Amino acid sequence: MTDVDLVKAKIDIVDFISEHIKLTKAGRNFKALCPFHGEKTPSFIISPERQSWHCFGACATGGDVISFLQKWENLEFVEALKILAQRAGVTLSSYQPTESSKLKDKLYEINHLSSEFFHFLLTSHKSGSRAREYLKSRGIKDEIVKTFTLGYAPDSWDSLLAFLTKKGYGSSDINTAGLLVRSDRGTYYDRFRGRLMFTLKDQRGNIIGFSGRLLDEGVYSERQRGAKYVNTSETPIYIKGNTLYGLDITKEAIKKEKEAVVVEGEFDLLSSFQSGVANIVAIKGSALTEGQTVLLRRFTENINLALDSDFAGSEAARRGIEIAEKGGLTVKVVELPYGKDPAECIEKDPYLWKKAVKEVVPVYDFIIKAAFTKYGKEGVVGKKKIGNEVIPFLSKIENPIILSHYVKDLSNKLQVTEESIELSIAQYVKKKEIPKEIKTAVSGSSREILLEEYLLSLIIQSDNPHEYIAAVMKILTFDDFNLSPVKKIMELLVGFLSSCKKFEVKKFGSLLTSEIAPAFDKAYLADRSNILSEKQIFEKELLHTCWEIKKMSLRRRINSISTKIKQSEEKKDEPSAKKTNEQLRDLLRQIREIEKTTQKA
Ligand code: ATP
Ligand code: MN
Repeated sequence: MTDVDLVKAKIDIVDFISEHIKLTKAGRNFKALCPFHGEKTPSFIISPERQSWHCFGACATGGDVISFLQKWENLEFVEALKILAQRAGVTLSSYQPTESSKLKDKLYEINHLSSEFFHFLLTSHKSGSRAREYLKSRGIKDEIVKTFTLGYAPDSWDSLLAFLTKKGYGSSDINTAGLLVRSDRGTYYDRFRGRLMFTLKDQRGNIIGFSGRLLDEGVYSERQRGAKYVNTSETPIYIKGNTLYGLDITKEAIKKEKEAVVVEGEFDLLSSFQSGVANIVAIKGSALTEGQTVLLRRFTENINLALDSDFAGSEAARRGIEIAEKGGLTVKVVELPYGKDPAECIEKDPYLWKKAVKEVVPVYDFIIKAAFTKYGKEGVVGKKKIGNEVIPFLSKIENPIILSHYVKDLSNKLQVTEESIELSIAQYVKKKEIPKEIKTAVSGSSREILLEEYLLSLIIQSDNPHEYIAAVMKILTFDDFNLSPVKKIMELLVGFLSSCKKFEVKKFGSLLTSEIAPAFDKAYLADRSNILSEKQIFEKELLHTCWEIKKMSLRRRINSISTKIKQSEEKKDEPSAKKTNEQLRDLLRQIREIEKTTQKA
């Protein structure tokens, strides 16, 4: 047994994954909402027998306990293996970290040192006095400065560079960490100069980057001073769209409160945390992304958006809400009673903020209200615009009582009939369905993949693989399979079944190489319960699938023979042309026959 096998044997995948997400039993397997993409209905399947997982949704991928942890924590293979080995009590003998995991470690170190450097300057050095005053003017207390490791980047071209160079890091690595800017002459200088520094961490607390805010806007033009906020450039460890500011510190409060307040800016987060509303994250000014939704859903299913007051009715608002809902989050909206953003509201009166956070409104009320504010309902054009804005959201409501409530509400407010609203929703849904149909008219090759995988799944999930594989192999030969993993699995399966009475998945699994195991898992974990439950339907479906695969295989041969005929004709090689023509006629006859028999059936 290799170290990897040993680790995998000692950790049960169902136990492990259930520590991270909620699983429900589904026949032989377990299912869950996929933790790696946003979804509302579970397409993430875990097999105890195969000790594997597969996402049949947007990810369309799967693996074992190691790859699960890799994806969950964004780790390299060896990093994930090490963590699991430790848990399993296995001493790894031979694994060396890869280059990319060594680089990541180095970037974390550089960021860590930089954060200490900035924090020291802010809290204990005379150069940080202006930044300290600025924080004071915004009402941020020392405790918060410590908890969130705020810092100050001095107003100089190379303070950080010099500091890190002295610590033994090369400018190329510091640049890779996103902390430098390269000049036209090819020299490097500090990216952050004269700024208040926010340390950005992932949810585990690793420092992945920084954002820096100007201390005094207004004094210079934007060209001279740069943007109000500057972020670390994207690096192997900092992907902006997957980051939520504050989450490492606030995740426990989010779990406890069973909801997360989502704000835009760093200051909104700090002020809110200080005021006692600690279940909070900041998206740093951009629209909520799918990566952020997926991350949030690990801690809660409910988010309360508390975005800037100009957010209402904005495109970013609509996109964010849509993405969050698609990701299976329930979205509510915090209405700001005062100020342009939560920070201003809290500065005025923390109590106003606490109250607003408790009195969230459902997202649909918010959208309807925002649309009315934006367009005004006077005149037919205003009404139409309001409809256009609101209908896409209403069309997603699945609960009929909730839907009826908002249809009524909107019809009252627009002074139109409920029927007209229902009709608009129906029209919108119909329009949206067209692209779906185009998508399902799959092209030749992906249809082949689907059918071959489908056939395999029917055989291995059936109650009698011996009988059914015999029936299949009466129609098909191995060469009829165009998908090489399926072909290999079929070959193995025929051999395996001929040597044993009972199909044991565990035993068969040990024959699968890592190349073909994912294809097997995908077929074994796919949900075929509706077909498997009725013997008659199942058998019909099995044969039908075989014949479809046979036809496709014949068509592939016809294509290649047609090319050959063309070549022979061009070369004026008549005997060869005649022979290939006969082959072609034979293939065409076979297809016609299949069509006749299958039509009768
Ligand atoms: P502050 O509270 O610091 O005065 P603000 O609330 O006025 O900021 P906004 O302009 O509302 O700032 O921006 C909200 C958030 O968007 C900021 O906290 C920051 O994370 C992000 N942001 C703003 N401007 C930029 C920029 N130029 N580049 C990158 N991110 C930015
Ligand atoms: Mn703001």
